Amino acid sequence: MTEAVIRARGLVKRYGNFTAVRGVSFDVYRGEVFGLLGPNGAGKTTTMEMIEGLRRPDEGHALVAGYDTRTQQDKVKEAIGVQLQSTSLFDLLTVREMVRMYASFYPKSVPVDPLLEDMILTEKAGDRVKHLSGGQKQRLAIALALVNDPQVVFLDEPTTGLDPQARRTLWDIVLRLKERGKTVVLSTHYMDEAHVLCDRICLMDSGQVIALDTPRSLVRSLQSESAVEFRLAEAEGGAVEEGQELRVQRLQAVAEVKQVQQRGEVFVLYTDALQPTLVDLIAAAGAEGWSVLDLQTRTATLEDVFIHMTGRSLREA
Ligand code: ADP
Repeated sequence: MTEAVIRARGLVKRYGNFTAVRGVSFDVYRGEVFGLLGPNGAGKTTTMEMIEGLRRPDEGHALVAGYDTRTQQDKVKEAIGVQLQSTSLFDLLTVREMVRMYASFYPKSVPVDPLLEDMILTEKAGDRVKHLSGGQKQRLAIALALVNDPQVVFLDEPTTGLDPQARRTLWDIVLRLKERGKTVVLSTHYMDEAHVLCDRICLMDSGQVIALDTPRSLVRSLQSESAVEFRLAEAEGGAVEEGQELRVQRLQAVAEVKQVQQRGEVFVLYTDALQPTLVDLIAAAGAEGWSVLDLQTRTATLEDVFIHMTGRSLREA
């Protein structure tokens, strides 16, 4: 069950002096949803485009379905479907016309009507593209990626800019693609999306792979179930402002704390024993003359894995 349908090896892409992708390697297994998760600018799109054969790597290579993306472009094209950015759709065509036109580009294509039905576009088939909502346009872009019945489907940030309901609909579509045996490579900067959809996640930052595993194993690698977030202020009459480093040291000593992260004014404590940590945090704050503000507790997530590895949040990076 672990046949690799994509093998990326040492991919490097430079733009002038700037190296956008710095030696990325991974395998994608047949039938899995594989996520590239990272903040804007991490190199997800560039990596995908090198694997799709749309951008030439400066170093390294990628095999898709056994074909080299540098030298066997035609074979690769037959094996893959790439979701277009919705800005590249033709506004004046109807949905059905657009799909038919795409189908005509390939020697072999799937029937149009069942495809539109799968993408929940049957009712919109006669409407012009320019009248579609954002979610409908994204679903049309996925329909176009599927016209040649590809083995591997690439979706680049498919839900960016969509409202919550349209995102959910798209998640259902991705899960259905997987049920039908498609391999899906998906890039996203939404950790909840990656968690729900992906069998494995390749966490990227600054053009590099920083972790690659199942969502569950990535979160488990933190060895902490809970995160406690808060800000600190000096309580009235409290001690003189002390250095942040001393605060972090003091917080490290709070009961059961595995790790302390600081991002701007916000501290995050990771713990497997929430209650003793909270009780001792409040006691420590009392003893140090700090006020604990905006206290929140939550289950640790992929976001915390990213923070743990980079010291930055996926959102702010
Ligand atoms: P992501 O998809 O993770 O947001 P990208 O792969 O789009 O990241 O971009 C990675 C980095 O490469 C970014 O800093 C981006 O500005 C830069 N970049 C992407 N394409 C080009 C290009 N054609 N010319 C110069 N820089 C680029």
